[in-house]
Amino acid sequence: MPELPEMEAWRRALNDPVSAFPIAKAGPAHIATLKTFDPPLAQLEGRRLRGAERRGKRLLFPTGDGELVLLIHLMTAGRLKLLGAGENGPKTPAFALAFESGSKLVLTENARKKRAGVWLLTPDAARAEVAHLGPEALGLDAAALGEILRRANHRLHPLLRDQRAIAGIGRAWANEILHTAKLSPYALSTELSDEEVERLAAAMNAELARGLELRERGASDEKTYRIHNRVGEPCFACGTPIAQIDFEEHTIYYCPECQTGGRVLKDRRMSRLLR
Ligand SMILES: [Zn+2]
Repeated sequence: MPELPEMEAWRRALNDPVSAFPIAKAGPAHIATLKTFDPPLAQLEGRRLRGAERRGKRLLFPTGDGELVLLIHLMTAGRLKLLGAGENGPKTPAFALAFESGSKLVLTENARKKRAGVWLLTPDAARAEVAHLGPEALGLDAAALGEILRRANHRLHPLLRDQRAIAGIGRAWANEILHTAKLSPYALSTELSDEEVERLAAAMNAELARGLELRERGASDEKTYRIHNRVGEPCFACGTPIAQIDFEEHTIYYCPECQTGGRVLKDRRMSRLLR
């Protein structure tokens, strides 16, 4: 799933092209992808976007006249593509936005269950749509992070991925951040020392900045992730094979030497611990 570094790289890449020309045609949109019907998509036509903004993993495109906001959430399988004039795109995109220059922004989703979403909202409705999100993960300092960690006792991996607590981190970057912080994915948030909180805040900022820098250069997952999806490969820091903990919907990757004092815990026991 694209997370903060991936979406911020997209925001930076799209900011100029989406605002360069007025919109010629908004849509078509897959029925499961378009989440709103009023105002209708056609209301965008003839208007110019002000640029691209981001909140957590969502992209927001306000119109220059301040009346509408187009919001896009890629979820797990949604992908964006910016096509130049005359460039061939996917036959049935989940959503398309054509500009008067002939260029197009298309959203595709290669999954049976369509989960990516497009919303056309008033500015008030757009604010309400993102109101539940916690502060942005990139730029969060140790004091603010400490407050979030101590609010309730949660395991670190699910807490980092909770968008209401902190916005922008998902499964992949939670793995990368916790490895750099040398913290167990199932350490309890209220039990961290001040020094560990500082380490986690520093790791969060360093890893997200590293990811953003790589993604802006077009780096692949393989070149970007050092822990995520690397079970059995030697840890880049200590050489110990990366371990995994399987859940129904996702997998946690970690280094037993760097993060859990050498302990490798069984999947089933971990599942119970993390519930
Ligand atoms: Zn290691």
